[in-house]
Amino acid sequence: MAKSTKNNTLKLKFDTLKYAPAPESKSSAKINAQYDLFINGKFEKPLSKKYFDTINPATEEKLSSVAEANTADVDKAVKAARNAYNNVWSKMPAKERGKYIFRIARMIQERAREFSVIETLDGGKPIRESRDIDIPLAANHFFYYAGWADKLAYAFPNRQPKSLGVAGQIIPWNFPLLMAAWKIAPALATGNTVVLKPAETTPLTALKLAEIIQESDLPPGVVNIITGAGATGAAIVNHSDINKIAFTGSTEVGKIIQRAVAGTNKKITLELGGKAANIIFEDAAIDAAVEGIINGIYFNQGHVCCAGSRLFVQESVYKIVMQKLKDRIATLIVGDPMDKNTDVGAINSKQQLETIHKYINIGKKEGLDIFESSCVLPEKGFFCKPTLFTNVAQSSRIAQEEIFGPVLAIQTFRTDDEVIEKANNTAYGLSAGVWTDKGSKVFNLTSKLRAGVIWANTYNKFDPTSPFGGYKESGFGREGGLHGLSAYLNVQ
Ligand code: NAP
Ligand code: MG
Repeated sequence: MAKSTKNNTLKLKFDTLKYAPAPESKSSAKINAQYDLFINGKFEKPLSKKYFDTINPATEEKLSSVAEANTADVDKAVKAARNAYNNVWSKMPAKERGKYIFRIARMIQERAREFSVIETLDGGKPIRESRDIDIPLAANHFFYYAGWADKLAYAFPNRQPKSLGVAGQIIPWNFPLLMAAWKIAPALATGNTVVLKPAETTPLTALKLAEIIQESDLPPGVVNIITGAGATGAAIVNHSDINKIAFTGSTEVGKIIQRAVAGTNKKITLELGGKAANIIFEDAAIDAAVEGIINGIYFNQGHVCCAGSRLFVQESVYKIVMQKLKDRIATLIVGDPMDKNTDVGAINSKQQLETIHKYINIGKKEGLDIFESSCVLPEKGFFCKPTLFTNVAQSSRIAQEEIFGPVLAIQTFRTDDEVIEKANNTAYGLSAGVWTDKGSKVFNLTSKLRAGVIWANTYNKFDPTSPFGGYKESGFGREGGLHGLSAYLNVQ
């Protein structure tokens, strides 16, 4: 077939490629009109007497109103956690603690459909992702750490690991239940008690988790889940009776928190922003690499701290990679997150959509070449077309700053040394991807890239047994795997 005919056929196929809607039912999701604070095993009215709305970013409709914890509420939660730590949890045999964590894992599994639907309604991510990634991984984290609870002596042989006490945990909106699992499961397995605050825009699955925890008969006060905005997070950070702060969020807030705990005895781990390099060599399996690029940046609307937001393509394959990438972007289905066909769902909030638009405008003003999907966006809700910039300079703000949206900055390179230097030229160091047929190249790159997680010939793969965390301004400390245990222990 002549080349132009082939391209036309392809285009025709994309233009006519339409799936019948396949919406997931909302009927499994029981969302209360109002949620109180989960303190000491009970849902309690906030002392602040204040509530805020959480909305569905795909429709802008209100889903529920949620309590806003003030300093007095935080104090109440910390007291409950301290009491549970001193009198129950730290005294309980590790084997018994493990049983509770297993029970929570099983209950998440049993109610996986409800969790997936609520995650998608509250946060805007496609139901396929909540169903296949977020919720199963959250359950797996509880299963994995439940197994460790009575084996800490094997994890740290010839040492005496000791729990820290009360952990204050603050999480973002991009993987709401999964981040709660990353934080709560290792803390409980190591014998600590918890006060956790989910993000303001996505509190509902954490509150569902609170319901499960209540049903699991976990002793009151071992896990307290309190909702609120940044001020609530700050009150947790500044509380004098907290032994450990675990924070996942922006580098900006991470710096504020680090300053706040300086000079105190609080142990701290920070998982912050990223600007990952996804590197495609000429000997890579190009179709697989293109799928990896799509997965790396358009997956979850680019709301991924380790998103492959900077793409480096070896010059000799630049043309073919760009053609295949643009063809693939044309097939991405953007829209209703509850539809099982949807690839790219809603941006999490109006504010985040404005941030993304701000960066797209910066890219245009910098004179970069822009390409965006020709899809039609829904009229209501917060949506953004999958977008890419080419002709990008190293100094461009699009290549340097975290956008946290479906926007890709593309650069080219000729040699290994050149791409290593370019990839490392960032304040961040969370993750990276390398696509090549040569194992030796993988090992050369992975030893020289300054990033905490590096994937080879795949992207965005997570597992509870693997540690995760950053270098440089992406934070410090590791979550997941055996490393994740030591973040919640004093190991002498
Ligand atoms: P954020 O603004 O830093 O918020 C994160 C959490 O901190 C939220 O619960 C937030 O509450 C709370 N918070 C805000 N100000 C605070 C303060 N002064 N003291 C204590 N807590 C405070 O981040 P975001 O915009 O929600 O999340 C996106 C960021 O998270 C991105 O930069 C992304 O890269 C990063 N992230 C990193 C990882 C990782 O593992 N490294 C994983 C996921 C996300 P409100 O929600 O109410 O503002
Ligand atoms: Mg919401």
